[in-house]
Amino acid sequence: MKIYIDGTYYDKDEAKVSVFDHGLLYGDGVFEGIRIYGGKVFKLDEHLERLYDSAAALYLTIPMAREDLARAVRDTVSANEKHDGYIRLIVTRGRGNLGLNPFTCDRASVIIIVDDIQLYPQSCYEEGIAVITASVRRTPPDCLDPRIKSLNYLNNIMAKVEAIQAGCLEALMLSREGYVAECTGDNVFFIRGGVLVTPDSAQGALAGITRSTVIEAAGQIGVPVRVACVTLYDLYTADECFLTGTAAELIPVTRIDGRVIGDGRPGPLTADLKRAFLAAVAA
Ligand code: PMP
Repeated sequence: MKIYIDGTYYDKDEAKVSVFDHGLLYGDGVFEGIRIYGGKVFKLDEHLERLYDSAAALYLTIPMAREDLARAVRDTVSANEKHDGYIRLIVTRGRGNLGLNPFTCDRASVIIIVDDIQLYPQSCYEEGIAVITASVRRTPPDCLDPRIKSLNYLNNIMAKVEAIQAGCLEALMLSREGYVAECTGDNVFFIRGGVLVTPDSAQGALAGITRSTVIEAAGQIGVPVRVACVTLYDLYTADECFLTGTAAELIPVTRIDGRVIGDGRPGPLTADLKRAFLAAVAA
């Protein structure tokens, strides 16, 4: 495995960051998870746009032009001879002094890891998963906008701990107002009466790239889509429910807080959307 750090490739055991990197000390940095399908980097432009937006929001200068970073990502994929896999692109604030002040860090660091990822066992895709609602609320946009894909995932990890303790693999997270925001590492969709609905990302969710791919795919197969304020009632009474994410792709949810969704099996529209999603990916 060849890991890119600031222009140089390192073997896995040699790929290291400084203990003074503010990414480690304070979670100060941004990242992207990106798929490689059939030798091509999926939606690289969209991922780079989100990365640069996240960095801008954090007053973090990515020390490379976008085209150069795109090239570095593609080159690292080639260097690892990966045809299908997962890229973790990380920009940390870089090495600085102890203390929060990011201006003590001279230069941000760029790291690119190319690897495989499987978040959920295959059986979960066939049978669906159970989720719970976490008691911990999603960080509100006036504290740290969830559209920023930062290295600080503690809010999500707190909810993930609740999920695991409850015997589930994912947890729903609500906004401070009680609307459904997203899951700890995935966006959420539900279907009711043939209409596909997902929470507005302005409600406190990451603007997921898989989410937008699924919305486009729905348009292509004629499934109406609504972006709306979503409550737990909407999910409990849904015909079908699923989650989306780069790593998870599209995974059916068949139980929420103990309630059975639909007939307790992954639904037919979810299957259609999954097919349309995979067709978009193949294209
Ligand atoms: N929400 C959160 C909190 C995430 O971390 C992610 C990515 N793992 C998603 C949603 C899904 O976004 P994407 O489809 O761009 O991977």
